[in-house]
Amino acid sequence: MSGIDIIKAYGHLGGKDLIAVMTRQVFAGRIAVTSSFGAESAVLLDLVAQVDPSVPVIFLDTGELFDETLEYRYRLERQLGLTDVRVVRPSSEDLSEAEDLWRTDHDRCCYLRKVLPLARATEGFAALIDGRKQAHGFERQDLSSIQVVGGVAKISPLANWGEDEVQKAFKARGLPVHPLVEQGYRSIGCWPCTRPTLPGESARAGRWAGSAKTECGIHTLVLGQDGAGI
Ligand code: SF4
Repeated sequence: MSGIDIIKAYGHLGGKDLIAVMTRQVFAGRIAVTSSFGAESAVLLDLVAQVDPSVPVIFLDTGELFDETLEYRYRLERQLGLTDVRVVRPSSEDLSEAEDLWRTDHDRCCYLRKVLPLARATEGFAALIDGRKQAHGFERQDLSSIQVVGGVAKISPLANWGEDEVQKAFKARGLPVHPLVEQGYRSIGCWPCTRPTLPGESARAGRWAGSAKTECGIHTLVLGQDGAGI
């Protein structure tokens, strides 16, 4: 099926229905989930686990994550019964170049710590499921539930979900909350580039605050084609 045919056939679906059709039919055995195990991640992972807890979940450990995120990953993994969480890390060579780069060059740092390792880890997959939402604003405000980038499908089952639906899902499913949420963090990435949001700010306003950057680049990567030698 071409990307356009997939969008035409399934673009109206969302949530668990979209996950089910993508993991069981369209991309069976060739699809993975990417998760930051951040503030809202439990909702998507719970839907995936209800459909098939053995779908690979790729967790990018940049080396700069909060300790709370690393602990939360284990808690969620256990509670949801996820059986194939794959931790992906930057190479030692990339880490040595990236050492303190977040102070001076966010784009290069994200490229070394996130984009390159994810490109390596997702080689062979035809589609990736992510938790992006229009409600995050910025580049995501017009997000559709299926996008095709460089021949690879990006599936965003929660694209149309608002904050109310997310909170309802946490309550209805008894999902554990990331420990930093109670400190005001509504979107959680690497510690040097994440701060709590202020009243009235959008959920992602605390990411790379004070700079024009709003995305790390992993959602626009073309699988297996973003790094030299991959
Ligand atoms: S979010 Fe910050 S620390 Fe993390 S990879 Fe990007 S620039 Fe580096």
